[in-house]
Amino acid sequence: MKIDITNIINDEQLKISVKENIPIEPLALDAKMIEFDGGVDIEFDIYKVDGKDICIIGNIQYKCGDVCDRCLETFKREVQEKFSGQIIEKSEDEDIYENIIFFHESGKINIADIARAVILYNLPMKSLCKQDCKGICPKCGQNLNTVQCDCDIEDIDPRLSELKNFLK
Ligand SMILES: [Zn+2]
Ligand SMILES: [Zn+2]
Repeated sequence: MKIDITNIINDEQLKISVKENIPIEPLALDAKMIEFDGGVDIEFDIYKVDGKDICIIGNIQYKCGDVCDRCLETFKREVQEKFSGQIIEKSEDEDIYENIIFFHESGKINIADIARAVILYNLPMKSLCKQDCKGICPKCGQNLNTVQCDCDIEDIDPRLSELKNFLK
């Protein structure tokens, strides 16, 4: 679903407000697929700042299925995030910006593209089903959240053992 921001670009309108629930295609990441449950609720305002920059500020809310990076189990994540960014005309050079940058094409911008950019921006560095997920036994491969195996494993986290040495 596209919205037209030409009126904002041409200073014929001060603000565009959008509130939608949009279906969104699963996102294919490096090694996994993120699937959305019930679409994405997105709400935002688009307006001009200082008579030139077109800004977008809003809220996104969704549920998605994810895969834990430690135990490899699937789990559901509920996300509610504020976002803000700038909308610029689409061009060939893609610089790195601090803000999330959204692109319009001849004054048209797609809500699903906005949602996708925000979702990607907010993806955690590491997906964990819970903070203290115990992960998988490196020896027998069992999920240590549900099974306690008898494998003989020393502290395998190198950061922890370094810390131990440091504290000696
Ligand atoms: Zn896990
Ligand atoms: Zn084991």
